[in-house]
Amino acid sequence: MAETAQPSTEEKSCIICGVKSEERILLCGEQQGKPVWVCVRCLPALIHGGH
Ligand SMILES: [Zn+2]
Repeated sequence: MAETAQPSTEEKSCIICGVKSEERILLCGEQQGKPVWVCVRCLPALIHGGH
């Protein structure tokens, strides 16, 4: 086990497309009691019920 796993790494990324906050604005939400991040591009799809 050469690599050191760091579970505390909390890197925000869109739950839909996986984009990072460095590339696009991410908005914080909540899903089933857990905090989730969605980028502004995927948010409209969520609002309109893309699934
Ligand atoms: Zn996205």
